Amino acid sequence: MANPSLLILAGDGIGPEVMAEVKKIIGWMGAKRGVHFDVSEDLVGGCAYDAHGTPLTDATMAKAQAVDAVLLGAVGGPKYDSLDFSVKPERGLLRLRKEMDLFSNLRPAQCFDALADFSSLKKEVVAGLDIVIVRELTSGVYFGEPRGIFKEGNERVGINTQRYTESEIARVARSAFELARKRNNKVCSMEKANVMESGILWREVVQEVHDRDYPDVALTHMYADNGAMQLCRWPKQFDVIVTDNLFGDVLSDMAAMLTGSLGMLPSASLGLPMANGRPKALYEPVHGSAPDITGQGKANPIACILSFAMALRYSFDLGEDATRVEKAVEKVLADGVRTADLMGPEGGTPVSTAQMGDAVIAALDASL
Ligand code: NAD
Repeated sequence: MANPSLLILAGDGIGPEVMAEVKKIIGWMGAKRGVHFDVSEDLVGGCAYDAHGTPLTDATMAKAQAVDAVLLGAVGGPKYDSLDFSVKPERGLLRLRKEMDLFSNLRPAQCFDALADFSSLKKEVVAGLDIVIVRELTSGVYFGEPRGIFKEGNERVGINTQRYTESEIARVARSAFELARKRNNKVCSMEKANVMESGILWREVVQEVHDRDYPDVALTHMYADNGAMQLCRWPKQFDVIVTDNLFGDVLSDMAAMLTGSLGMLPSASLGLPMANGRPKALYEPVHGSAPDITGQGKANPIACILSFAMALRYSFDLGEDATRVEKAVEKVLADGVRTADLMGPEGGTPVSTAQMGDAVIAALDASL
């Protein structure tokens, strides 16, 4: 059987620096676990603009559509700030998400015990936390029509429209139920069915999809404002949360920061299954290109490494290896290995990006 294919788009700023550490792990997977990937690399963002005058060429887009998974570093930087909106680095990323129709955005909030003190919440509230927020990414109030700022009598009125079709709700619900089956079989759906018709439909459709195809998964519903409170009060009550684009935007940022540094946060964006049964998929760290630390060996590669672990689990059905990578990260942190962003007030000597990658490889070796 052909090797699974992976397109690496390292991008700008610290993107190539953190991706270099993921490449070490891809090499390790081949050498030590006999899992080989067909890896190709290409440009996205500012570096693509420099080379081709566009942040994503049609040829790169076609490659992204053809592979089993795309792994992206980061795009953007001050050098490109004055570019026209149509060719800004971020447009490359938005084109990927749109044309691959990546409607399901997975944002895990996982707290490694060694970093529990970094949270603004009490240690016992966050230690061991491991939840995923599934955010609908391609519809809802950010896309609904009519939208705009209009004149009404003597004043302006700003309008955005929350709009969801049944099929848009059903497909993201399915994505959440499938994810739950790979985890603890528990989904909480969040909306505002008490005040929004789109919320009433959301709740009905999620329940219908559940009753028809996923009766084995425990499903609860919660109003999104209560959800925000519960996430702060006792986040460990959740496993998978599914919600719309707007609530998901806010709740996933909040949940992510329960766990500390931006350099630790991975994400996955999934679309419909391809002919081989794998979902269209883009994996990327949540952080940006971090121009303030680019080229200094200070970037934390863990968010990118954990994004690759998500690819192993959700695109390649290699859950055991995904766990192995996550456990290696956990061990390294427990051993006190820290990049600069993870240094507490007690200080110490931070390791470089490459040293953090090497420490993860050493922990992987020890896991065999
Ligand atoms: P940023 O995430 O790049 O950086 C915010 C802060 O976090 C900085 O102080 C940075 O040094 C730090 N940081 C980020 N990642 C880190 C890591 N892995 N290790 C250690 N420290 C890390 O956000 P920003 O400064 O608002 O944006 C910088 C550029 O990145 C902008 O051009 C922005 O448009 C772009 N951006 C891209 C993406 C993406 O590619 N998905 C996301 C956000 C921002």
